[in-house]
Amino acid sequence: MSSTTTFPNSARDENRTVHVREVGPRDGFQNEPETIATDDKIRLINALGRSGVKRIEVASFVRPDVIPQLSDGVAVLQGIDVPADVQRMVLVPNSKGLDNALGHRDLFEEIALFVSASETHNKRNINRSVQETMDDVMQMGKRILAEDLTYCAVIATSFGCPFEGAVPMDRVLGLAEQFAESGATEIGFGDTTGMCNPAYAHRFFAAAIERLPGVEITAHFHNTRGQGLANAYAALEAGCRSFESSFGELGGCPVPAGSTGNIATEDLVSMFHEMGVDTGLDLERVIDAARDAQSTLGRKLTSHSIIAGPVIWSPAS
Ligand code: ZN
Repeated sequence: MSSTTTFPNSARDENRTVHVREVGPRDGFQNEPETIATDDKIRLINALGRSGVKRIEVASFVRPDVIPQLSDGVAVLQGIDVPADVQRMVLVPNSKGLDNALGHRDLFEEIALFVSASETHNKRNINRSVQETMDDVMQMGKRILAEDLTYCAVIATSFGCPFEGAVPMDRVLGLAEQFAESGATEIGFGDTTGMCNPAYAHRFFAAAIERLPGVEITAHFHNTRGQGLANAYAALEAGCRSFESSFGELGGCPVPAGSTGNIATEDLVSMFHEMGVDTGLDLERVIDAARDAQSTLGRKLTSHSIIAGPVIWSPAS
């Protein structure tokens, strides 16, 4: 139940396989200006569920007046039809959200809880101090484990804060260690406003792997400044084997306003496949889903693979 199983983070893994979590339906849809119709969300998630991805962040138990784009979360969870081996994740911001989520306990397998490593960002995001949030999250983690669900902890602004600037690595990994001690089996490090660079990503994930043995360490990069894939590559080389991304590069970034958010799943998968890294995903199916999202939204999305399609040529084997 806790971190007794060892997740194989390893830079020496010859046949490299990575986990990819599709976060578009939550992180992406939440940050798009439009509210997407429930039926459209269900169709898109069902398509993703048949792309070979084994993890999808589907919904969030947040107050509907705070994030109206996700107010139909329960209807989406009830409406989707994904293969039984696809893990459905929900994001929960606080104890009240957890109460609501546990009322729909059969609709998902994983719960993500979050804190910002930056005091200012945490305050602006959820109006509490980091310590108050940590205390609450660790209590919630116990309840999640007692329900036999997977408890994942996410640390936002792990690579920099738009208000405070640099966030010390030691501070971020210290929070991660607390989460690991409280039973989180996966810890995600979010580059919330795209402030990481590849050199730092490599140092950070090498250190995280060393300090968090047996914990699945997940990289969540944003492409705000165009460095998302380079950061993913650097994290891979440091031994990270778990990534989050959003089909169609869906999802904006609140700071600076209007900038892009998550790296695109199809671009990440394309890069990894060309490198011989197995993701388990069918790239063409992800691109089809992203193109469907593009026509559903009625405007151009920013993913490269939507335009270019998969690479046909591949190096001689
Ligand atoms: Zn994100």
